[in-house]
Amino acid sequence: MFDTAHLAQAIAWRHDLHRHPELAFEEVRTSAMIAGLLQDWGWNVHQGMATTGVVATLGDGSGPRLGLRADIDALPIHEATGLDYASTIAGKMHACGHDGHTAMLLLAAREIAKRGVRGGSLRLIFQPAEESEGGAKVMVDDGLFRQFPCDTVYGIHNWPGLAPGRLVARDDQMMAAFAVFDIEITGKGGHGAMPEQSDGVVAAAARIASGLQEVPARSLSPLDTGVMSVTQIHTGSAYNICPDSAVLRGTARWFAPAAGDVLETRLNQIATGIAASQACQARVDYQRRYPATINTATEAALARDVGAAMGLDVADAAPSMASEDFSFMLEQVPGAYIWLGAGRDGNNPGLHAATFDFNDAVLPVGAEFWVRLAERVL
Ligand SMILES: [Zn+2]
Ligand SMILES: [Zn+2]
Repeated sequence: MFDTAHLAQAIAWRHDLHRHPELAFEEVRTSAMIAGLLQDWGWNVHQGMATTGVVATLGDGSGPRLGLRADIDALPIHEATGLDYASTIAGKMHACGHDGHTAMLLLAAREIAKRGVRGGSLRLIFQPAEESEGGAKVMVDDGLFRQFPCDTVYGIHNWPGLAPGRLVARDDQMMAAFAVFDIEITGKGGHGAMPEQSDGVVAAAARIASGLQEVPARSLSPLDTGVMSVTQIHTGSAYNICPDSAVLRGTARWFAPAAGDVLETRLNQIATGIAASQACQARVDYQRRYPATINTATEAALARDVGAAMGLDVADAAPSMASEDFSFMLEQVPGAYIWLGAGRDGNNPGLHAATFDFNDAVLPVGAEFWVRLAERVL
C-alpha cells in the first residue's frame, strides 16, 4: 500500500522518536514534529490540548466523524537495547512502542491526505501521558470531544505476546481497571528483645499483605476477575528494634465495577481490622486510576472485518489485566481498542522491558489498517 520511500521515512521517524523519548506531558519535541508533518500534508492541526496533545482534522467536521488515536509518551526506564538508534536521554526510553504507534498513524495520515476523504471527517488524536498519568482523561476533560466531536474512536497497541499477522479486537473487555494503594501502619515501637512492650507493626504488615492476596479468591465470585498485588513493604531499621511504622503499597485490577467496589471495601476492612488486632492503626490511601477498557461490539466487529480483509488472523484472545487510559475515551464515544501482533522470533522482550524495541515489521501493517478503516467508515 505504501510507497517504499514513504515507508522508509516512517521507520526513520520512528527511530528519531526512539532516540528522543519524552515523558508524560513533556512531549514537546515529539508534538512539534507531529504537528509540522501534518501541516505539511494539509491537515487542520490543533496543538496544545492536554499540554502536548495534537488533534488534526481532515474534512469539514460533518459526520460520520472518525477518531484514530496514538499515544506518544515514553517511560522512565534506562534503555539497554544497544541499538544504534537507542535513547540519547539517560533514564528515559520508548519501552512501550508509542514511538511506533506515532509513526504508524503518521504514515497513515500521509497516505490518507494523498487519497482524500470522500465524506465525513477524520480526526487524528496524538495523546500525551498514557503511562500512569492518564493523558486521555486530561484530553477529554480539556474538551477533546466537545471541540472535535467523534462518532467512533479507535486505538491500537502493538502486542509482543501475539505473533505478527494477529489482530485482536474483543467485543467487550480488553483491559482491566486499576487502582493503587498505600497503607501506613503505625504503633508503638520498642526493643526487639521485649516484644511485650511494643505493638505488632511488623506482624500487622505481614498479615495485611497475605490477607490482601486472599481477597480476589475469597471475596469475588470465582467467575469475576480481580487482582490484588502487594508490591512493596517498607519497615524497620535494625535487628533489635521493633519499628513503629510500616508502609505497604500495591495495585488492584478488575473489570466489573462491582468487583472494583468489593476490592476497595475489603482492602479497607482487612488493613484496619488486622492493624487493630495488633494494637496498631492503619491509614489507607486508595486511588482509582483508569477504568476498564471496554470495546463496543459493533466497532470491534468492524475492526476485525478490516483486519480480516487484510489477511490478518482476527481470532479472539483473553483480555489483559494490564490497563490503558484509552478507556477514558471509550467511556465517552463508542469504539475499539485493538492489539496488533508484534512478537519477534527468539528473544522477544515484553512491553516496559529495558530491552524492548517496537517491531518495525508491523509499522506498515498498522498504518494500512488505519487507512482501510478510514476508507470503510468515511
Ligand atoms: Zn506502557
Ligand atoms: Zn503502551
